[in-house]
Amino acid sequence: MNAPAYEALPARVVFGAGSVARLAEETDHAGLRRVLVLCTPTQRGLAGHATAILGERAVGVFEQARMHVPLATISDALVVAAELGADGCVAAGGGSTIGLAKALSLRAGLPYVALPTTYAGSEMTPIWGLTEDFRKLTGRDRSVLPRAVVYDPELTATVPAATAVTSGLNAIAHAVEALYAPDSSPPIAAMAERGIRDLVEALPVLGTGTPDAATRATALQGAWLCGTCLGATTMGLHHKVCHVLGGLLDLPHAETHAAMLPHVAAFNLPAAPDAAAAVRRALNAPDAAAALSKLVTESGAPSSLAELGVRRSQLRAVAEETLITPYANPRPINRQDLLHLLEKAWSGTPA
Ligand code: NAD
Repeated sequence: MNAPAYEALPARVVFGAGSVARLAEETDHAGLRRVLVLCTPTQRGLAGHATAILGERAVGVFEQARMHVPLATISDALVVAAELGADGCVAAGGGSTIGLAKALSLRAGLPYVALPTTYAGSEMTPIWGLTEDFRKLTGRDRSVLPRAVVYDPELTATVPAATAVTSGLNAIAHAVEALYAPDSSPPIAAMAERGIRDLVEALPVLGTGTPDAATRATALQGAWLCGTCLGATTMGLHHKVCHVLGGLLDLPHAETHAAMLPHVAAFNLPAAPDAAAAVRRALNAPDAAAALSKLVTESGAPSSLAELGVRRSQLRAVAEETLITPYANPRPINRQDLLHLLEKAWSGTPA
């Protein structure tokens, strides 16, 4: 008997419309007195709002968070944090901003409170990532978990539809792979199924660009659940291929997940019957992969690698790189099957 142990990760979560008002209380609870607010240039308005709530606890704003967490951005943020005497951060934004907070936590031991504004779910995971010399480095370290997460669905009202949809599909991918992970467990399976159901319900409305408050709350709850699943399990072929595509071809993260998900599901789910049944129930559909294809298309997300600028001639290199290091997967995959899968994802043939 060598079943992996289930270990819940520490998480303090405040959830609900208007909960951004709790930000000062949560930084106090985390023992932070002088916080640097992190955001992307497009989310300055939110950083200003957070600063007003934090009052004298906010010592400044660093508004240069970027996708892929470049080392230069980390260094710049550390200089600003040191100059201002910050003892922690507030990460106000999506996975990119939270990724910067994680890197500061890892490199300089700066704790942070997360204020997520997309559905990617990074705030619930101990997974960090950064880019150094065009190489993406990732790892797991509990020290990068936030001291608290404040989920306020009102903050997601401004997410561009494309970001909302693709970050939600990214979260669904976490849950699908958690269901067939070697270290999955009943609590994770329950969270995964519920998280997928929440996001599947919300995605078509998110795709309209004007989601109502109830839909945004459902989607954010789904992100919380799916992120927790990612944090607690080992990911398989889908996350591996997306990581390779992102690193090798510099593809956008969430869009890549959207285009790949139905195809990996079509390949893997027949080898994982319990996971397949859970995904079918969550989607309320007899064919999980076909339903995922339909969801991707109907919510307006990219449905092919070609659409993301990948050339067919690049698929072989992606397959080779994916096969170099082993990873957990419910179904073994050889070079030929992987190329076939990539071809389908490239052309956007429905799964
Ligand atoms: P993002 O954080 O890159 O945001 C995309 C754009 O949308 C940014 O310009 C951002 O400022 C803007 N935006 C976000 N929320 C907004 C809002 N409410 N209103 C207006 N604009 C808003 O997108 P993402 O999909 O959340 O994150 C992707 C990144 O997260 C990737 O780099 C990925 O690697 C990482 N990620 C990490 C984990 C993990 O566990 N470590 C999990 C999922 C994703």
